[in-house]
Amino acid sequence: MQVHGTYDVIVVGGGHAGSEAAAAAARLGANTLLITGNIDTIGQMSCNPAIGGLAKGHLVKEVDALDGIMGRITDIAGIQFRMLNASKGPAVRGPRAQADRHHYRDEVQKELNQTPNLTIKQSLVDDVLLDDEGHVKAVVTSAGWVFESQNIVLTTGTFLRGLIHVGDVKQNAGRAGEPAAMKLSETLMRLDFKLGRLKTGTPPRLDGRTINFDAVETQPGDEVPKPFSFLNQEITQEQMPCHVTWTNPETHEIIRKNLERSPMYSGQIEGTGPRYCPSIEDKVVRFADKERHQIFLEPEARNNYEVYPNGISTSLPIDVQIAIVHSIVGLENAEILRPGYAIEYDYIDPTELYHTLQTKKVPGLFLAGQINGTTGYEEAAAQGLMAGLNAALQAANRPEFTLDRADAYIGVLIDDLVTKGTIEPYRMFTSRAEYRLLLRADNADLRLTQKGIDIGCVNQNRKEAFAQRLADLESAMKMVHETKVKPTAYLAAEIEKLSGGYRETQSLFKLLKRPQISFDWLAESFPELNGVTPEAREQIEVESHYEGYLARQQSDIDILRQEEAFEIPTHLNYEEVSGLSNEVKEKLKKHTPPTLAAAGRISGITPSALTALWIHLKKQQEKAPE
Ligand code: FAD
Repeated sequence: MQVHGTYDVIVVGGGHAGSEAAAAAARLGANTLLITGNIDTIGQMSCNPAIGGLAKGHLVKEVDALDGIMGRITDIAGIQFRMLNASKGPAVRGPRAQADRHHYRDEVQKELNQTPNLTIKQSLVDDVLLDDEGHVKAVVTSAGWVFESQNIVLTTGTFLRGLIHVGDVKQNAGRAGEPAAMKLSETLMRLDFKLGRLKTGTPPRLDGRTINFDAVETQPGDEVPKPFSFLNQEITQEQMPCHVTWTNPETHEIIRKNLERSPMYSGQIEGTGPRYCPSIEDKVVRFADKERHQIFLEPEARNNYEVYPNGISTSLPIDVQIAIVHSIVGLENAEILRPGYAIEYDYIDPTELYHTLQTKKVPGLFLAGQINGTTGYEEAAAQGLMAGLNAALQAANRPEFTLDRADAYIGVLIDDLVTKGTIEPYRMFTSRAEYRLLLRADNADLRLTQKGIDIGCVNQNRKEAFAQRLADLESAMKMVHETKVKPTAYLAAEIEKLSGGYRETQSLFKLLKRPQISFDWLAESFPELNGVTPEAREQIEVESHYEGYLARQQSDIDILRQEEAFEIPTHLNYEEVSGLSNEVKEKLKKHTPPTLAAAGRISGITPSALTALWIHLKKQQEKAPE
């Protein structure tokens, strides 16, 4: 067989996982090939034109902290920026931006085209070949191209045996207008992977010129938009408004009357849909007592009129879609530009993966993104980054790079997937993270950028920006700890008016613990604080307000780390561990948890099973020669 090129890493697919994987592998110096079904759709947003949101925003900031591309590109292509939960605690604030879909895609393509060590080619990958030892060695495309690599990352999104539904009309496609990847699923089955079927959906797109915006509520962006990337200080482009409208009893009646025509309810769709992102027919059935559901009318781009009605994802037939749209205030005369649809696709049980996102069955094969059962651009990007880094590290015979649940939401995401698996599309929530006060969006760089520098995936400009950020923070922290206010000072009287008096001299850091006192307020009386950056002010306020809680979470993390440090050898013979039930043994054999802590997170592994495992490992350690 003729080979047309050899690479350190091959990434299959140019969606959000693939783009980050390819960029990350290339940043680490790996000679990387990104091969995808259509070069023109690299970086395409399949569904809503928005990045971030609750917990998803954390993932974007973490990807950015490791020098990934999603945050920087959102800052360029964003058309509306909002901090969700801005009035709530810092742990649950979620940065979100509406993006110009076309601009976003173009910027991803520009970025990847300018990335050193990265080659991009267009062809559908049909097969993955293994060598005699069962290690990956090449991909074969539908055009007959063969490219060799020992490290292959599959990021095929919704394309594996993708099947689109609009009413009873069915069509094989990866998403509207693009062919499905039919053959690769056969390869994966041949390689003995456990495949499942999931489903997701998208709403009809509307012509903004036919929407009556006067009849609906306007939702502007934040007055001071905050960038996603730690490299950017501000967003300068003009923001566009979104609008809000609602479904009503008439809409719900139309849906109820036509339920048997929905492929979801007629039994035509077999895959499991996202519980947290249901279709409108799902919402009407599941929340039957609700009289209305909110719809955000989101602009798709600056230079066209297309509008994304977020909240009415549907696979009902087109005549019903038209009736639904026309029943909604402001949309009475709205023209549909593209029908809504549902899509079913294959995914692989993510418990087949190690924490590096390398498969357990086929060495050298990595999986990232929707193929692992997740949904969302951000979840895909986070996995792509980690799979790309690990593929490149492996290519260079370097140690793997993983993040745990106390490092990052990325760690929570991957740990959930590989230890628990998923039977429905998995999306990130703040509630999934145990240490969310420490894993904030605002400190993602403080948690991760040094780790990225250590493995070499952070470029020079970010290294410099990060060093500056640390220096700013350190000097500001020193100032607030060293500057003290006596109870007799003039300012003490002002403080007493705001939040009660005090008897002993207090540092500014201590005064900031009072919720009524902000850094900006103190800076009015201490001119030396005026030079402190907004980012450092935010960090210091959070660290002071939540000092006790943060310390408690840190001590929980110390315990977790002790358990994480208790490694379980990959080839441990679980049959030799006394006190484990057969069911527990089977689970442990299947998941091969790397540490005692990871074993504890597998569902069905009881505390007594963990103790038995711990005793066994301790005995083995004692027996082992020094
Ligand atoms: P994708 O973005 O799907 O990219 C896959 C890439 O792989 C494409 O570039 C494709 O060309 C390429 N490819 C596939 N197979 C091959 C092959 N064999 N050879 C070469 N290239 C290949 N997310 C949400 O969070 N909320 C939603 O409501 C939501 N609704 C959605 C509705 C629809 C209809 C669709 C299609 C997606 C929806 N998503 C939603 C999911 C979101 O689009 C994905 O989570 C995200 O795009 C996944 O990124 P990815 O990189 O894994 O895959």
